[in-house]
Amino acid sequence: MSGIYIHIPFCKKACTYCDFHFSTSLKYVEEMTDAICTEIIKKKDRITDQVGTIYFGGGTPSVLPAKHFERIFDTITSHFSVSADAEITIEANPDDLDAKKIAELRQLPVNRFSIGIQSFFEEDLRWMNRAHNASEAEDCIKRSQDAGFENLSIDLIYGYPLLTDTKWLQNINKAIEFQTPHISAYSLTVEPRTALADAIKKGKQIPVNDEQSAAQFMTLIDKLKEGGFEHYEISNFAQPGKYAVHNTNYWRGTPYLGIGPSAHGFNGQTRYLNIANNAAYLRELQEGRLAETVEELSLYDRFNEYIMTSLRTMWGISLDKIEADFGKVFLERTLKNKQLFIERQWLLNDASHLKLTPEGKLFADYIASELFITEDDYL
Ligand code: SF4
Repeated sequence: MSGIYIHIPFCKKACTYCDFHFSTSLKYVEEMTDAICTEIIKKKDRITDQVGTIYFGGGTPSVLPAKHFERIFDTITSHFSVSADAEITIEANPDDLDAKKIAELRQLPVNRFSIGIQSFFEEDLRWMNRAHNASEAEDCIKRSQDAGFENLSIDLIYGYPLLTDTKWLQNINKAIEFQTPHISAYSLTVEPRTALADAIKKGKQIPVNDEQSAAQFMTLIDKLKEGGFEHYEISNFAQPGKYAVHNTNYWRGTPYLGIGPSAHGFNGQTRYLNIANNAAYLRELQEGRLAETVEELSLYDRFNEYIMTSLRTMWGISLDKIEADFGKVFLERTLKNKQLFIERQWLLNDASHLKLTPEGKLFADYIASELFITEDDYL
């Protein structure tokens, strides 16, 4: 089954660390919904099987009024066959999830919220320039659960200078107490061209401490394991079997449609990238054109993408899949490249899979890059 990703490019405030595509002006929300519906229709022939997941990401999808979601759902269901048990997720920020909004969303086919909590501490949320406060962070989870939204994921951030180890433990414990089936936790990374990067450069903020971040990652793994969660992807933890279907399909290379500014889609061979500019996206769609560029993925691109995404998961890299999809030469090169990391005990060869050890999880991106194969390797 395929997936549909819809990027809603609006946020109430700009978080200091964020480099996603969004605008803090909500002026063109109406036009954006029209354009998104137009793009969905234009791409209706790109998915021929059933749609198993729909994911609204952003930006902050929860800023959209419920009637806009309704229009988007109507457009999707008129042009695609959506599975009766499709996972339908909205990324939401706590300040948007008041009782009225939750009740409105409850009337729609939405069955999962991914809530951007980030921290339960007021001073941390202010430091991040989040739009919500600490009490909204707690209230919205309880309120969503009371309204019948059981399938919740909450996002947390660690590794920022304000977050002591004690506070991090308190954030993790609080997250566990809510008994949401899913928790995502991300190490703060300082992306170029963000307010945070600028503040660090000017000496107004302390740089991120990698050792502190690594220690907090290890605490996270231990505590969530004690709390009954499976660590199924570097940044994602779920109660047994409660994996995020949309993201898991993405890591497994399942085709998906990308809709909205900056969204990308994938059909198994080709990637489509939408322009990351609201005005240009609207103009193209209003004038009857798609706002995308097409990127043909070479065998090397697809191999490296498979390595990058599968290594991060608990299922690991399948050596059988490498042989079947990429051929013997890729398999032999991978068997050679893995050796150093097996010796360092960062990787283990479990039957026909390569998996990260607990220590290896700290170096996932580095290990993946060393397993990459490029044309220059003269296969
Ligand atoms: S709410 Fe999310 S997308 Fe918007 S600025 Fe903050 S982190 Fe970025």
